[in-house]
Amino acid sequence: MLNIILMGPPGAGKGTHAVWIAKDFNIPHISTGDMFREAMASGSELGNKIKEVVNSGNLVSDELTCALVKDRLSQPDCANGYLLDGFPRTIPQAEAFKKMGEEIGRGVNLVLNIGCPDEILIQRIAGRRVCPQCGASFNVNTMKPKVEGICDECGHELIQRKDDNAESFKVRLANYYKSTAPLLDFYKEQGLLADFDGNSEAATLKAELTALLEAKK
Ligand code: ADP
Ligand code: ZN
Repeated sequence: MLNIILMGPPGAGKGTHAVWIAKDFNIPHISTGDMFREAMASGSELGNKIKEVVNSGNLVSDELTCALVKDRLSQPDCANGYLLDGFPRTIPQAEAFKKMGEEIGRGVNLVLNIGCPDEILIQRIAGRRVCPQCGASFNVNTMKPKVEGICDECGHELIQRKDDNAESFKVRLANYYKSTAPLLDFYKEQGLLADFDGNSEAATLKAELTALLEAKK
């Protein structure tokens, strides 16, 4: 069983790799960032509540985030594994998640960490374009879509995320180092952490990840 958390700084490639991992290993891809963006796009109560926080690069409260994840993880499609992307992001979230995992019998058994140097992250974020429909990401410099501005996967028009600007990125990166990076030790101590280099070629990283996942599944 693959109950996976995918970790790494913003721009490391979590979203890109999450898409094929979910497909190849037949587990749901649960991205809290995507869930929050969907809520904002739909104009729901939750969406309106979090809009400013998310667009400025800050974190949504642990309480709201944990409630959202607990709901999602309790659904039947998570019974045979899951891939969490963007959660947990703080120590209180990791602790709450440990408890809820035990409660619903779906605790994490593998944490994949995709590391990447800051200067690469900044370049990638500036060129990133995403599909608001299916969540696929592209890059105008390094991972161009086949047709400019159009999603390869579903044909929808690509957009630039509101928080993919220099100012919000700075906030996200600072939050990552302050609040999220400490989770690496938390999971290392539990023997769950596997480190990967997000600066290597996407195909190389895919092969390395596949080898580990095949061994663990
Ligand atoms: P990235 O990894 O590129 O920074 P995500 O798509 O994972 O972006 O998240 C986008 C935004 O959604 C975050 O900057 C934050 O505002 C909110 N968010 C996502 N996941 C969480 C979380 N676990 N806790 C708090 N806020 C979150
Ligand atoms: Zn798409």
